[in-house]
Amino acid sequence: MIGLYLHFPYCTVRCSYCDFYLVPARGNDLRGYVAALCDEIRRVDPRFRGRAADTVSFGGGTPSLLPPALLAGVLESIRDTFALGGDAEISLEANPEDLEARRLEELAGLGVNRVTLGVQTLDDRLLGVLRRSHTAWRAMQAVAAARASPVRSVGADLILGLPGQGRAEALAGIERLAGAGIDHLSLYLLEIHPRTRLGRAVALGRLAPLPDEAVATLYEEAADLLVARGFEHYEISNFALPGHRSRHNLKYWTDQEYLGFGPSAHSYAGGERWSNAPRLRAYLSGSGGRIERLDDPQPRSVRGAEALFTGLRLSEGVDLEALRLRYGRGLPAAGDPLLADLARAGLVEVTGNRLRLTRRGRLLSNEVFERLMPPAQLT
Ligand code: SF4
Repeated sequence: MIGLYLHFPYCTVRCSYCDFYLVPARGNDLRGYVAALCDEIRRVDPRFRGRAADTVSFGGGTPSLLPPALLAGVLESIRDTFALGGDAEISLEANPEDLEARRLEELAGLGVNRVTLGVQTLDDRLLGVLRRSHTAWRAMQAVAAARASPVRSVGADLILGLPGQGRAEALAGIERLAGAGIDHLSLYLLEIHPRTRLGRAVALGRLAPLPDEAVATLYEEAADLLVARGFEHYEISNFALPGHRSRHNLKYWTDQEYLGFGPSAHSYAGGERWSNAPRLRAYLSGSGGRIERLDDPQPRSVRGAEALFTGLRLSEGVDLEALRLRYGRGLPAAGDPLLADLARAGLVEVTGNRLRLTRRGRLLSNEVFERLMPPAQLT
């Protein structure tokens, strides 16, 4: 089964930490964008036409800016082009200010069964620092509305490590969300990109990110809290109640195929990886279906290393033999002395052919990945 990703590059305001490719929504022609997106879907490479698909993910940007009627058009193109299963996961990333009861009813009526709210923090001062346009109160209203709606899975994204973020407030925010009945929580650590407003404020000394130690402790305490609440810590940054893992994101983490539509969207199918050129103007000028494809010609060994590292983000870890069959004998086998070293250092566990990170290994994952990188790729 293949996964389908629909990229929506519009946002109303750029958040202070965001360095994604996106454009301001105001004055832009959403209808024209959706027409181009549908054109691209309908002109999919014949190799993939009619393939069975079991996940559809609307991401961005802010796909919740799309009026339901336009979203319906995209889903119709998908159903006409692929064999979309009746139990497919159809997910939408949403900003809290876009979700209220009626909109949620409409989305559920179209088949959307998963929403993820970009809450980021429940501290109004920090929401201001991030330039988010919602308040904590509005975010909780959206969570309550989503919970009361027919949408099956309700998730939220939070960021840890914000400048001046208090430990108690951060944990209380997580408690509030868990108490409000969310099924899925993603905890991202703040990344500071130099070309963003936040990056410039940090460079000028106006804001200071939390020290790494404080962030690591906060992340561990947050994970403990969620696990005590019944959440499974199934991926480094992701927690789900049983039955609510993100099936679409699991495709990325388990080396499965997906097709991305829209400028800058990535694809991995038929043994190839590529991305769409990030050129919105060309896309809108009626050439959605002919968008330039940028091939990613990585050698097999690098692909194998990427699959290994991505799979290690999961609590289940990876099957080393399956990876070696797919990507070659350059990848470590279960008896590799390097893995024994990492296991002695308490960073990994090897059970049969399965390799997984320990809790300490998750915290130091970059160090583990560096040591596992094939020597040829380090030069
Ligand atoms: S809503 Fe998301 S994509 Fe849009 S500016 Fe904010 S962080 Fe970036």
